[in-house]
Amino acid sequence: MLTKNRTAVVTGAGRGIGKRIVTTLSELGYIVVGLDLRFDSNQLPDEKVEFMTVDVTNSDEIKQVFEKIESTYGSIDILVNNAAITNNISQIMKMDIEKWKREIDVNLNGVFYCTKYALKSMTEKKWGRIVNISSIAATGGIDRQSSYAASKAGILGLTKNVTIEYAEHGITCNAILPGLIHTEAVSDMPEHIKEQALKLVPANRLGEMQEVAELVAFLVSEPAGYINGIEIPIDGGSHCNPISLARSK
Ligand code: NAD
Repeated sequence: MLTKNRTAVVTGAGRGIGKRIVTTLSELGYIVVGLDLRFDSNQLPDEKVEFMTVDVTNSDEIKQVFEKIESTYGSIDILVNNAAITNNISQIMKMDIEKWKREIDVNLNGVFYCTKYALKSMTEKKWGRIVNISSIAATGGIDRQSSYAASKAGILGLTKNVTIEYAEHGITCNAILPGLIHTEAVSDMPEHIKEQALKLVPANRLGEMQEVAELVAFLVSEPAGYINGIEIPIDGGSHCNPISLARSK
């Protein structure tokens, strides 16, 4: 598998799934640049991993960062749009408009900015892989998180448009839709909420961050070059009929 000299940019690389994607791609031999608002002091760069502090909602800053990455490493071959927030828990009528805008800004506009500036290098090199981390909330909604669901659904439309407009340049763009994944944020959820949520998961367990990272690693690989514009749930089967499952438990 050709990984040497391929440069991957991963957003939201400071913790959780993004951090795991950085480690996994770096172990496979890619040069990885992780972007985030902040990084732990124990998350250290090495000769194959660089970290850059940036807000994905700042389009000017994103343009500069992507230009810098391209001039430093010669190309941007892979982009994993992973950064997101979920800080807006409220029914639609009570939803705070500024919080709605911020969530759309990070979760959807940020993906657009990074994609727009990564495509420059990818179209020049006639090769590129973009993986967008969406959510099962994109297709099924999620109670009292309409801004999150809407932002994650928006990503699916953008994914398909990148495919339609850039597949002929050797670029693929696919979306991953995780269900409940065993991250720091999910570990902190109250036990009774986790138990309730697990009733809707046929596998009856949380997904592991490594499982998401391995799927990303496959989608960015050379053999995945004819997979384009698709949405892959990684959710232990919870996109299947949850009503019958809830009844059977
Ligand atoms: P997380 O909250 O642990 O990590 C997200 C990272 O994004 C953080 O390090 C944060 O600092 C960074 N970030 C937030 N706003 C940013 C900004 N404006 N600019 C740059 N970086 C920013 O999230 P996670 O649980 O690891 O989830 C990763 C991805 O997977 C997200 O897209 C999330 O929506 C998706 N997802 C997660 C789950 C789950 O169960 N954890 C389920 C479905 C989808």
